[in-house]
Amino acid sequence: MTLNQLTIHEAHQLLKTGKFSSVELTRACLERLQKIEPRGRALVTETAELAIEKAEEADKLIAQGDIGPLTGIPAIIKDNICTNGVKTTCSSRVLENFTPPYDATVMEKLNSLGVVVLGKANMDEFAMGSSTENSAFFTTRNPWETNRVPGGSSGGSAAAVASGQAIYALGSDTGGSIRQPAGFCNVTGLKPTYGRVSRYGLVAFASSLDQIGPLTRDVTDSALVLNAISGYDPRDSTSAPYPVTDYTCQLSDKLKGLKIGVPKEYFVQGMQAEVETAMKAAIGKLEELGARIEWEVSLPSTPHALAVYYIIAPSEASANLARYDGVKYGFSYDKASSMWEELDKTRQYGFGAEVKRRIMLGTYALSAGYYDAYYLKAQKVRTLIRQEFDRAFERFDALVTPTSPTVPFKIGEKTDDPLQMYLSDVCTLPINIAGLPAISIPAGFADNLPIGMQIIGKPFSEEMILKIAYAYQEATDWHKRTPQI
Ligand code: GLN
Repeated sequence: MTLNQLTIHEAHQLLKTGKFSSVELTRACLERLQKIEPRGRALVTETAELAIEKAEEADKLIAQGDIGPLTGIPAIIKDNICTNGVKTTCSSRVLENFTPPYDATVMEKLNSLGVVVLGKANMDEFAMGSSTENSAFFTTRNPWETNRVPGGSSGGSAAAVASGQAIYALGSDTGGSIRQPAGFCNVTGLKPTYGRVSRYGLVAFASSLDQIGPLTRDVTDSALVLNAISGYDPRDSTSAPYPVTDYTCQLSDKLKGLKIGVPKEYFVQGMQAEVETAMKAAIGKLEELGARIEWEVSLPSTPHALAVYYIIAPSEASANLARYDGVKYGFSYDKASSMWEELDKTRQYGFGAEVKRRIMLGTYALSAGYYDAYYLKAQKVRTLIRQEFDRAFERFDALVTPTSPTVPFKIGEKTDDPLQMYLSDVCTLPINIAGLPAISIPAGFADNLPIGMQIIGKPFSEEMILKIAYAYQEATDWHKRTPQI
C-alpha cells in the first residue's frame, strides 16, 4: 500500500483501525515530497518538523479514541492562507518574510480537527494568474508533464495532491484558481458558494470574488474537507449565517430525476477538439446515470464575463493591495531618503509585473473620469450574468461545462501574452461573478494530459454538485489515474 496516495476517507479508516499511525502516514508524504520537490516545486515552505510534532499529537488523540474524519491526515495549504507562526508569502517579494501572528479561520478549524500541515503551496503572486508562472519565486511543474504548467493560481496545491505529496490541499478561487489547476492536474477541486467558507485570514485579492476550497483525490474527500471548513464566522462579514449540513450524506450513484443543462456559450471558439469530445462523452455518462440533459441551453451574457472580471477583480485588487506600503506589512525599501520614495520603491521592487498590471488596470477603472464607463458598467453586466444563472436554475438542478478550453499548456507559452493567459479561465470566471458553487472533476485525457469537467450549482447547493460529481466519479476511473513523475 502506498500510504501517500490514499484518500482522506481511506486513510481515516486505516488510522482508526491502527493499521498505521499518523506519524507513518506523515513520513510517507514527506519522503515523497523530498523526492518530488527538486523537480516539481510545489512548495514555498516545508514544515516537516512541525508536521511530525502534529502527527505525534494526532496519534495520541487517536489512541484515546478521539478521531475525527481529518485527524492526523497530512495536508498542504496555499500560501495566501494565514498560518500562525509559519511564513505566508503569497508567492510575493513583498510578503517574502511575513509570518502571521494568527491563523485564518479555516486553519483554526482544521487545527482543532488535528490536521498535519506539511507546508505552504506555491501560487501565482497574490493569486493573480493561471499557471503559477507569476510566482515571484519559481514555477511549479505539472506532474503529468513537467514542461507544462499545473494551472493556477493554486498550482502548487493541485500539483502536490496529484503527485502524492499530501493527501489533500486547500486553495483559493477568485476566478477559477481551484478548479482550473484541479482540471490540469487530474484532481477534484471545489469552489464553494460565496459566503460558505470564512475568508478571515485569507490574504485578499478581489474581495467580492475570493473563496477558499479543497483540492482532493476524490469527491468524498471534497465533501469531508468542506464539512470541516465551512460555516458562519463573525470575523468575516460576508460569511453566510446558514447551518452546515453533512456534505457526505447525499453522495449516491444515481442521478434519476435530476435535470442538467449544458450552456452552449461555454464551448468557446478555440476550444481544443479533444476537450469537446471528452465533455460530450462525460455528459453522455451523466445521462446514462439517469440525469435528464438539455443541450444548447443559452446564457447569452457569458461572453462578457471575461471583460467584467478583468475590471472588477483588478479594481478590488488595487484597493486591497494599497496596504503594502512598506510600513504595515512585509518588505520595506530601507534606503529611501523620503517617505514617498520608500512607498514608491517598496511597491516597485515588492510587486511583480502581473500584480502591477492589475493595480494599474484597477486604479484606471476606478478613477473619477472612468468609473461610470468601466466599473459601474461592469457591475451592471455582473447583475445580468447573475440573473441569467438564476433563471437557468429555475429549470435545472445543475449546469455542466468544461473546466478549461484546453489541456495544460507549456511553461512559457502564454507568459508574453496576458490576454491569452486570461482566456484560460473563460469557463470558470462567470461562476465567481455570480457567487455560485462549482466543482471540477477528472473527466478524461488527451495525450496523457488531464481534462476537467465543471459542475455548477445554485447558491448553497454544494450537496447537489457533490452528488452529481460523485455519481460520475463512481461510474468512471479517471480520478484513479496518477502521474508518472
Ligand atoms: N486566473 C484568474 C486571475 O488571474 C483567476 C485567479 C484566481 O482565481 N485567483 O485573476
